[in-house]
Amino acid sequence: MSKSVWPTCGGEAAALVRTKDWSRTALGPLDTWPDSLRILLEAVLRAPVSMVLVWGDDRTLIYNDAYARIAADRHPQAFGGSVRDAWPEAWDFNREVFDACFAGEERVFRDAHFVLARHGVPQDTWFDLYYSPAADEHGRICGALSTVIDTTARVTAERERDRQEQHLKQANADLDALRIRLENLNQRLAADMDFLNTLFRQAPSFMAVLVGPDHVYELANDSYLRLVQHRDVMGKPVRAALPELEGQGIFELLDRVYRDGEPYHGRNVDVLLDSGDGAATERRILDFVYQPLKHADGQTYAIFVEGIDVTGHALTEERLRVAQEAGEIGTFEWFPNTGKMAVSDAYRRIWGFAPDTEITAELLVEHVHPEDRHLSGPRRLVNDDNPIGYNEYRIHRADTGEMRWIARRGQSMRSTVAGERRYLGVAFDITERKRTEENLRQAEAALRELNQSLERKVEQEEAGRFKAEDALRQAHKMEAVGQLASGVAHDFNNVLQIISSNLQLMELDGIGPQAAGRVASAVAAVERGSKLSSQLLAFARRQPLQPVVTHLGELIGGMESLLLRAMGDRIAVEIRQNAGLWNVRVDRNQLENAILNMAINARDAMDGSGSLTIGLANAPHDATLGGDHVCLSITDSGCGMPPEILDKIFDPFYTTKAPGKGTGLGMSMVYGFVKQSGGEIKVRSRPGEGTTIAIYLPRAAGQVLAEEAAADTAIPGGHETILVVDDDPAVIATTTEILAGLGYRVLRAGNGQEALAILGSGLPVDLLFTDISMPGAVDCASLVRQCRTLSPRTDIMLASGQLPDASFDEELELLPKPYNREQLARAVRAQFGGPADPVTARPAHPVQALEPNAGGQRILVVEDDPDTRELACELLAALGHAASGSASAEQALALLKEHDIDILFTDLNLPGLSGIELANRAMASQPALKVILASGDGHSTRIPLASGMAVLPKPYDLPQLEMSIAHVATTLH
Ligand code: ADP
Ligand code: MG
Repeated sequence: MSKSVWPTCGGEAAALVRTKDWSRTALGPLDTWPDSLRILLEAVLRAPVSMVLVWGDDRTLIYNDAYARIAADRHPQAFGGSVRDAWPEAWDFNREVFDACFAGEERVFRDAHFVLARHGVPQDTWFDLYYSPAADEHGRICGALSTVIDTTARVTAERERDRQEQHLKQANADLDALRIRLENLNQRLAADMDFLNTLFRQAPSFMAVLVGPDHVYELANDSYLRLVQHRDVMGKPVRAALPELEGQGIFELLDRVYRDGEPYHGRNVDVLLDSGDGAATERRILDFVYQPLKHADGQTYAIFVEGIDVTGHALTEERLRVAQEAGEIGTFEWFPNTGKMAVSDAYRRIWGFAPDTEITAELLVEHVHPEDRHLSGPRRLVNDDNPIGYNEYRIHRADTGEMRWIARRGQSMRSTVAGERRYLGVAFDITERKRTEENLRQAEAALRELNQSLERKVEQEEAGRFKAEDALRQAHKMEAVGQLASGVAHDFNNVLQIISSNLQLMELDGIGPQAAGRVASAVAAVERGSKLSSQLLAFARRQPLQPVVTHLGELIGGMESLLLRAMGDRIAVEIRQNAGLWNVRVDRNQLENAILNMAINARDAMDGSGSLTIGLANAPHDATLGGDHVCLSITDSGCGMPPEILDKIFDPFYTTKAPGKGTGLGMSMVYGFVKQSGGEIKVRSRPGEGTTIAIYLPRAAGQVLAEEAAADTAIPGGHETILVVDDDPAVIATTTEILAGLGYRVLRAGNGQEALAILGSGLPVDLLFTDISMPGAVDCASLVRQCRTLSPRTDIMLASGQLPDASFDEELELLPKPYNREQLARAVRAQFGGPADPVTARPAHPVQALEPNAGGQRILVVEDDPDTRELACELLAALGHAASGSASAEQALALLKEHDIDILFTDLNLPGLSGIELANRAMASQPALKVILASGDGHSTRIPLASGMAVLPKPYDLPQLEMSIAHVATTLH
């Protein structure tokens, strides 16, 4: 029983000792335990701290209640079991410790660390452990006592404290670092703020901050204050601070930016600001931005104003632009790498390019004058430092092609693209300047030339004046000599005529051989006298016409100085010439003579003072004239003429001038000359109103030749008689005219029959000149044959437009058609075997008297000189005609009415009506009447062709008288 109540102490562990079945353990049943075990166990069970008793070699574990709490969930399985099974995780430690204790050693551990599974979870635990060996009553160590104090809570607390301390320390250190950084930051911030402040204040651009909807000045930098002339704007709304901006749109702009929250960028904005003294506003040109400043919610609360004053720059630019526009200076930018060009509008205008034309360097080069292309930039690019240095060159405008002069200057610029070249330049049109330069150069050259040639000109002028004076003297002399010559020749011819007629009548009467010799010698003398007078007349009247193509302006120009001198100082001479004057074909010498004559008439009519106007104008196709003409008019302010004088001014020898002053031949010569030149003459005059004489000359097609050789003097003529046969009246007319002009006597026939009639009449014909192709009964070949029989002495010459097909018995001279005057003259002269000699050329035919009534004519002789009249009648009677005389034209007209007259044979110079007037009147009433005009003026008297009149120059011999009668008798009109 006692055993069963042991141990007696209370508690769970004691109860377990009592109740456990120890017999299955190494200790054996409780009651077998030694006392030492029991004592030691009792002490353990009763200990106030957790204690363990490990007994025996199995290390059986018994512990008290305090330990049971440490053992926790291993309790109560661990109770009474081996230590190894109770704490397998700490067995290594326990074995070593208990082995030491069983070997008599003690062990103490403080805060020994164990990781023990508690409630299945490994947990960090700390213990203070005290081990001591336990001996049995025999002193043998059978067990070990261990006191276990759980220090986990303390250790954990200590550890936590340490950790917290550590943490605090770290936190403090961090805090310190933070503070230092903060201080640094603060310092830097302050510095930055200072910097920014300075930056803001001193910024070159003007800046301000305007707050709120009224734009109140919050900030403004120095530039801004300078702009507003340092007015006190801070804290004021902008409308109050800068009232002058009212109406300039600025306030509205600010309002808009504030309201919409959209920034505004202004460029080159013109603003008028108070200049500071309050008196005037000043124009400023600004580039600026209004930037809205916003809260986080996007609401605008202020406007940041920032900008620069570009007034100077803008004004310079404006000035440059205006200058460029006004001066038409074109600017260009050239990028040689691409050939591209950027050009201004003015530049386009200069070159004539349309606004949309893409301009390239090559395009420009194309428009540069080919000779100047080497001056263009692209062509100089390779070898020139500055290919667009100053140059002047010619271009052809792109729009009109007009050539203009351009000046260009430029230089290279740095490009924004590395390695890219770029040139900038200007160009302007210098055509006007070039023209001025050229004019100046020409003027200078002309001046130089003028200076150089002044002396030469003075000399020439002098020489010209002398020549003109000579010509004038010559003209005066010519007029005087002409007057004298014609007067002498006229009277002389009349005298010769009387002598000649008498001599011939004497021959007809029949005279002895001695007297015949004297008569022959007297006849020769008459011939010589006649030659002399005809030479005198030729001298007075000049040669037959030599027309050449002439420009009347040039002709008058050449006469100007002569005319001026002829007119004298008191007569103003004016020459009016229309532009584009046509040419005429005219004998220049004769025309100059005619003009001079008319001018001298005008001078006389003006009594030495007044005005003389020479007009030259084209007179296009005119019905009264027919065809184009050039009109040369001479107008004077002289006395003018009454109609009765006007009627007569063309009459030969008609003059109103005092004896010895006028010949009366001037105007008749002019008349004859104009008519012969195919022209017309018209006179307009009234007493006291001056006179205008207009000459119309036909327009000529050809060109004026510098020197048309007037070789006419070399053309041979003669006095032989030629019978011209041709079926073409025009050919007859011209051939006759030429031959007559050369001095020959000419007979005409329109066909072979007419020609045979003349040849058969016995008239002496020296040459038969006939066309080969001849219509009618008598052809050319038979005409030639019969001519040989009828007139064996007559030479024969043929004319043909083609080679002759008719066969002739003999070789005959052939003149091919068309022939000119010279060819005809030379061919005819050759027929007669060389130059004419007045004596040998005289017809060698003997005088043949015709039967009085066979082919005789009824002839009225009108002659104021009774001797001459008588002689003429006698000569005509000797030729077989019935002739009667009349002393005056008036009487002759009366006789013509009373009697049948075939031929009127009248002297040209009659006391009353002239011979020509008589002839005209007579022919007017009797159209069939034939007229022979006996003229003392020799061959110079001309009458219109086919007028039914013939002129017989005095002195005439019997054959000449005979021939002219035959001529008028066979002429139809
Ligand atoms: P002359 O010169 O010998 O008088 P002209 O044949 O030249 O002979 O002129 C004939 C006449 O015509 C002159 O005498 C003159 O009466 C008149 N006459 C010619 N021209 C003019 C003129 N321009 N003004 C007035 N009368 C003129
Ligand atoms: Mg005259």
